Amino acid sequence: MAGVPALTLNNGNGIPQLGFGVYQIPPPQTAAAVLSAFEIGYRHIDTAQMYENEKEVGEAVAASGLERGEVFLTSKVNNNRQTREEVLASFDETLAKLGTDYVDLMLIHWPLPTVRDFTVAWKALEEVYREGRARSIGVSNFEPHHIRRLLAETDIPPSVNQIEVHPYLIQSEVREFDDEHQIVTEAWSPIAQGDVLDDPVITSVARTVGRTPAQVVLRWHIQRGDVVFPKSVNRERMRENFALFDFELSAQDMETISSLDRNGRRGPNPNEFAWVPR
Ligand code: NAD
Repeated sequence: MAGVPALTLNNGNGIPQLGFGVYQIPPPQTAAAVLSAFEIGYRHIDTAQMYENEKEVGEAVAASGLERGEVFLTSKVNNNRQTREEVLASFDETLAKLGTDYVDLMLIHWPLPTVRDFTVAWKALEEVYREGRARSIGVSNFEPHHIRRLLAETDIPPSVNQIEVHPYLIQSEVREFDDEHQIVTEAWSPIAQGDVLDDPVITSVARTVGRTPAQVVLRWHIQRGDVVFPKSVNRERMRENFALFDFELSAQDMETISSLDRNGRRGPNPNEFAWVPR
């Protein structure tokens, strides 16, 4: 099977276009799931302080026997870390839990525009980037107007914007904005947590190309140029979700899938979301 392609970020660093997401994997199951992912061939893990499983991701990296440089690790600053000091302290905790002296990518998890000034957290991430402890920095759930503020008021443009994207929420506007600013879009909940897999349009394309619905949807993301990291604790599904590079969707199939767009957001609206854990 052909390998996972790497995309090039705006600072020249590479990022594997397919990874493994660990949101909602309970900590006691995380190390085993990540080790299975490594065995299958995944080399990019997407975690977050909020997921409370960074330590177990680190255990899996240590147990895998892989060199640190072979694995791409992303984490995200939690919503309750808002000041410069809190961001820097939480970043140190992330490195300690992951058992490493750098992350490949550190993101601000949510902009929380009604709660805080996200440029403060961004400037703290610029510090860890300059120190080389985050090889790249980016944002998550940022709308174009949030990113415009970062571009106007801070020094380093984000390399990545991680947002909800799937066939029911194709996010044309945000993706175009990201593209225009050399920001790679990462698509979270790429299969809408399973919701799009029974759609008759998806199952019909799947029949035509002889692949599963999940593979068709993930391949649609890959051909659009986004980064994806589907989550599963089921080894067979993890394998299925990894087998995306030996088939192609036609331009017609791509369009048909995109036409399912219905503003079908599953997660919160980033302009309104204000949840801060205690
Ligand atoms: P997902 O779209 O990856 O769906 C995961 C669910 O789909 C699994 O729990 C499983 O039940 C099912 N599934 C997976 N593979 C399948 C297959 N082949 N066939 C049938 N069902 C299958 O949803 P997600 O976990 O929400 O998103 C993926 C990753 O994105 C997360 O793990 C996390 O890393 C990231 N994420 C980020 C944010 C953010 O705010 N930045 C929010 C949500 C998720």
